[in-house]
Amino acid sequence: MALPDGFLRELRDNNDIVSVMQSYVELKRAGSTYSCRCPFHSERTPSFHVYPDTQSYYCFGCGAGGDVVTFIKSIENLDYMEAVRFLAQRAGMAMPEDKDDGSARFRQRLYEINRTAGRYFHEMLFSPEGKEGYEYITRRGLSQHTIKRFGIGYAPDDYHKLHYYMKSKGFTEDELLSAALLARNNNRVYDKFRHRVMFPIFDTRGNVIAFGGRALSADAPAKYLNSDETFVFQKRETLFALNYAKNSKADYFILCEGYMDVIAMHQAGFDSAVATLGTAITPTQARLIGRMGKSEVILSYDSDGPGQKAASRGINLLTEAGVKARVLKMTGAKDPDEFIQKFGAEAFAHLIENSGGAIDYELSKLQNGLDLVNKTEDRSAYLKKAVVFLAQISNPLDRDVYISRTAETAGIPADTVRFAVNGEISRQKKRDKRDQYRNLVSPRNNDKINPQSAKLPREEKAERGIICFLYHNPDKLEHIRKNLTGGFATDFNRRVFEFISGRISNGFGLEMTAFNEEFDGAEMGRITGILNDFAAFSHDIQALADYIKILNDYSESSKNMSAGSMSAEELLAFVQKQKEKNK
Ligand SMILES: [Zn+2]
Repeated sequence: MALPDGFLRELRDNNDIVSVMQSYVELKRAGSTYSCRCPFHSERTPSFHVYPDTQSYYCFGCGAGGDVVTFIKSIENLDYMEAVRFLAQRAGMAMPEDKDDGSARFRQRLYEINRTAGRYFHEMLFSPEGKEGYEYITRRGLSQHTIKRFGIGYAPDDYHKLHYYMKSKGFTEDELLSAALLARNNNRVYDKFRHRVMFPIFDTRGNVIAFGGRALSADAPAKYLNSDETFVFQKRETLFALNYAKNSKADYFILCEGYMDVIAMHQAGFDSAVATLGTAITPTQARLIGRMGKSEVILSYDSDGPGQKAASRGINLLTEAGVKARVLKMTGAKDPDEFIQKFGAEAFAHLIENSGGAIDYELSKLQNGLDLVNKTEDRSAYLKKAVVFLAQISNPLDRDVYISRTAETAGIPADTVRFAVNGEISRQKKRDKRDQYRNLVSPRNNDKINPQSAKLPREEKAERGIICFLYHNPDKLEHIRKNLTGGFATDFNRRVFEFISGRISNGFGLEMTAFNEEFDGAEMGRITGILNDFAAFSHDIQALADYIKILNDYSESSKNMSAGSMSAEELLAFVQKQKEKNK
């Protein structure tokens, strides 16, 4: 959907790039611009620049760039419309499509549908038909109180039962499809959840917004099935049981992998347990957690390989969102549910108190497979890996603590470790500088965005000159069009040029935000680079004439080059044209 120009301008005006970015990175003012260390690649010296004038940013290290929408897209991992919605919400603006205000009523209707379906599933659990579901959850040790509190239910083994029931309550097929309770296949609709134990998913205000279903038959295609995303349900913004956990007295959240883990924990008294919905934790969820005023998150994931990998990713995301995190180390059980069943709640509480911090966890992972006691070569292998990791810890005090700890673990004097870490830090600083320099001098090595640039460096540069000129002088579009007979030589720059000219001729503004509709994140970076590259290009009309001449010459020469492959008629027509031109 193309958003109205006026809306985009308002969105941009209400979301000043500097103030939006300040909640993600630490900006330092440098004259009229700001800089910081790039949030999109790892570096020690800041090469990430923010330009309030053009409301854009550009990283000279990795080429990331764009406007406030591009930034939100990348840092929140959202698509274009989601990022726009995110910023609109931040600024308290209504989205253009919401303005007719059917949306508020629609939202209420979806809540109503989910509530009704949730009650139906819950009742089914206690009916003769729901026996299998009821047996499953009681076998897992859930009490009556827990079943009621979480509204657990049962979806019958039937393709239409829910549909007929909901119809009798006055809900239409379209509405049920919008709520993702029905699915459609070749024009036939059927109940999406069948023969499953059902877990309602609540938002923080207590509305049922979706369901998760646990299959009861072994041959079901998916053991766990979640509702598809709907108008009221966005997976990446939702955490299971957060509606209860946010009110817990505990000053930490316990982040689990699945519904059953969470429910078992609540039943055992750990009422601050939450879960993501079958995915790794997203930045939005990490910040949602950060906003809830608890001091820390304890990751309680399965002890298998994938679970531990997810834990390690989760730690990074939470730390980036400013949330303290640590990982629960479980032995003797594959997941928290099993642990509590086997060893009891008290043992689990003990586990929580004694779980290590994120850095400890990462450091201890580096020891995997190494024998630090008996093998000198293993000790030095550990030290090498640890030094690189320790050099990443930005707080010097923290760094020192972990340097001593590493020294102890490896049986090496602390001064030796510190010396190695400092060496690594200055090496990293040098490498950052070198990368920045390289990108400035020859940014087009192995260029994935514009692969033609390597073969046509002169033409490509001229094209950037024209784009930059046009962006800052939109009134010169006609002049450029008239003189640029040959057109652009590289496809990517041609796309950019045509996009800009298209907007100018249709009377639209050149807000960077609009570019996001057409170009992806990496492309946005390149475009921002071009548009902010004032220094590299002259802006007088003579320079423009030079750029245009380069492209016109190229176009002529490539025509001549291909003359050899022309048919006799084509060749004749071509010669005729050349004659006319030379008259
Ligand atoms: Zn970067």
